[in-house]
Amino acid sequence: MKRALITGIRGQDGAYLASFLLEKGYEVIGADRRNGADSNWRLKELGIDKDVKTIYMDLLELTNIIRVLEKTKPDEIYNLAAQSYVAVSFEQPIFTSEVNAIGVARLLEAVRLVNPRLKFYQASSSEMFGQTKTVYQDENTPFYPKSPYGISKLFGHWTTVNYREAYDMFACCGICFNHESPLRGLEFVTRKITYSLAEIKYGLRERLILGNLEAKRDWGYAPEYVEAMWLMLQAGRADDYVVATGETHSVKEFLEIAAEIADFKIKWAKRKNMLIGIDEKKGKAIIKVADELRRPAEVSELRGNAQKIKKILGWQPQVKFEELVGKMMQADLRRLKNAARKRKTY
Ligand code: NDP
Ligand code: GDP
Repeated sequence: MKRALITGIRGQDGAYLASFLLEKGYEVIGADRRNGADSNWRLKELGIDKDVKTIYMDLLELTNIIRVLEKTKPDEIYNLAAQSYVAVSFEQPIFTSEVNAIGVARLLEAVRLVNPRLKFYQASSSEMFGQTKTVYQDENTPFYPKSPYGISKLFGHWTTVNYREAYDMFACCGICFNHESPLRGLEFVTRKITYSLAEIKYGLRERLILGNLEAKRDWGYAPEYVEAMWLMLQAGRADDYVVATGETHSVKEFLEIAAEIADFKIKWAKRKNMLIGIDEKKGKAIIKVADELRRPAEVSELRGNAQKIKKILGWQPQVKFEELVGKMMQADLRRLKNAARKRKTY
């Protein structure tokens, strides 16, 4: 039986990866930084909270990481832990770098010390491409990050590449484009939209306030992306791969499809120079676009070319954009319907 250690076990990808590896017969150990919140809901929702063993480990604490590696002796490590929210990285650039950049160096140093033969996956990000000039981004596209988050991820990325080259470690980076699901954090725009629309529908909220509706992302379905992570560590040779759908859509498109599924009919209007989305069925303004939610620097469009992983590892996404929006919107309608009955939020 193989043993995997997953950092970021309580996040979206940690939960799906744990479920995927348990299905494959792995023993799964989740590294939990113990933040005090009841953040076990994703593992509970997937019905695996009793099957994943957890251990306290924080990427800020080197000796803690070393002890955890000595104690758990994993065959594979998936480093999914991060301060993963771009907007917060502008407010907390130093903390973001401590976790996402130096945290990767701490972890790799610990691996080098304890067992340099174990396999290591690093969660790199399409945000590293940032202000890209190419229509599609692949493994050879130059990086130009536009946020402290993107910069910190680039450090983690190059550190992983360097440990592979310098110490012959089996270390891979998945350069993942945005991937979403009903388990996505509420701060990210997709889930913020589906959750808030469901709240509005059931009378638990008045309106949804958003920032830049024109930004475009290559949005995929998270459970498919965790399979790509696993495939990388099963390959004959360690390498880096772009993981993406190859399609790009705007925040506005996501919003309009989600609104239609939730049975709203949005008409756009301008009031006092502010863009407003009115539900034509009820004649109520339910969406506002606020300049305060715009970022100091923005990545306007991303679209990945995942030919390499398709060709070498046979990975290909199946879930299309509209289906993804549908899965997320339906899940939040189901959750909020129950909450509305009890008159409390989910
Ligand atoms: P989440 O934000 O849902 O999960 C991140 C996890 O990291 C959380 O469980 C969090 O713990 C944990 N964490 C944060 N700081 C520390 C720390 N100091 N020590 C240990 N653990 C810590 O992210 P996702 O699951 O969506 O993403 C997984 C990884 O993939 C992240 O690294 C992200 O940056 C990267 N990525 C994600 C993409 C996406 O679209 N989802 C795209 C590209 C890359 P807690 O629960 O206690 O807060
Ligand atoms: P990111 O691509 O990792 O930054 O993922 P997000 O889901 O946080 O943001 C995707 C895009 O949506 C970015 O270009 C944001 O500027 C844009 N966006 C517009 N309104 C919002 C909002 O209210 N919240 C978030 N998180 N993003 C928003």
